[in-house]
Amino acid sequence: MSLKRLILSLLCQLMLIFGFEAVVNRHGGGRSTVALRMPPAKHLQVEPGASFKIALFADLHFGENAWTDWGPQQDVNSIKVMSFVLDKENPDFVVYLGDVVTANNVPIANASLYWDQAISPTSARGIPYASVFGNHDDAPFVWPIEWFSATGVPPLRCSSADSSSNDNDECNFLGTTRLELMKHEIASDSFSLSEDGPRYLWPSVSNYVLQLSSSNNSQPPVAFLYFLDSGGGSYPEVISSAQTQWFKSKSLEINSDSRVPEIIFWHIPSKAYNEVAPWFAIHKPCVGSINKEKVAAQEAEMGLMKILEERTSVKAVFVGHNHGLDWCCPYKNKLWLCYARHTGYGGYGNWARGVRLVEITPQPFSLKSWIRMEDGAVHSEIILSS
Ligand SMILES: [Zn+2]
Repeated sequence: MSLKRLILSLLCQLMLIFGFEAVVNRHGGGRSTVALRMPPAKHLQVEPGASFKIALFADLHFGENAWTDWGPQQDVNSIKVMSFVLDKENPDFVVYLGDVVTANNVPIANASLYWDQAISPTSARGIPYASVFGNHDDAPFVWPIEWFSATGVPPLRCSSADSSSNDNDECNFLGTTRLELMKHEIASDSFSLSEDGPRYLWPSVSNYVLQLSSSNNSQPPVAFLYFLDSGGGSYPEVISSAQTQWFKSKSLEINSDSRVPEIIFWHIPSKAYNEVAPWFAIHKPCVGSINKEKVAAQEAEMGLMKILEERTSVKAVFVGHNHGLDWCCPYKNKLWLCYARHTGYGGYGNWARGVRLVEITPQPFSLKSWIRMEDGAVHSEIILSS
């Protein structure tokens, strides 16, 4: 971390401790500013004429096979990918798009230790971020067959991401709930802008909206960023009708005339992705570089896509989950359905790792996207709205 960012990071922590509203210019006179405030007024800020860049870290899958050599090496490699892209692109904001950890592979009591590792490249650079849950984040631990002894009783093999604590009391493998993971992230790091969503939607936790504002207060908001929990792991892979109702009433409440563009993030693609998926090669109007598997969609569609389709303000949806897909395709000529790019070395598939970037420019509003690969190459540039 540079000295400037270190000082900035300490300053932010101090300002948050003392409850000030802090407007922080991360770039020291650069493209944009980022506002960090005490809850509940978390919001992001961009200067008029500047642009706001978001990096999507999808499917990192930290914590796989900690009892072997290759597992921890995957996490080291994932840190390298994130660090490289953060330094190359210098984004204003990062979205952790689910499957941050592979909890079904994490034999420690507290998966937050792995979650923290995944967040660390972003947090260490003083970049604000938000996260949504994927199907692996709170999945129950699955015992590897090779652990079972001849008598059928698995030997106790506790391993800890924090090597200083090797206490057997920590060795319960019960898993870490979505709520525990989210509360830990929010409480332990002031750069987290995540929220644990309305209580009545629990156990679906990562449901919230962040406002991107202009630093000129007389201007309307630049965009609303919506985050939804698409389930999986401890409960079905679905965005429920209760979540749909929450989105409907929230968007009507804060953007009743649909004047402010809306951008949506969740993990598991909706069934609508099946409708737009390219056959074999990716051809226009779709843009992307890999189309290597079938869309693995949510189990049911409970009305959200209909609402998104009817709101002229909704410009694009971004998901992860399918590691072998990285395209964007238009849906009913109304909005774009996009995949991120598999960022982590954890999880299935050996396609080269990369990061989807999303850039918002206010006045006039435009939404651009591209993919930055771990070797530095850029591809799949597209204007999603202008
Ligand atoms: Zn995944």
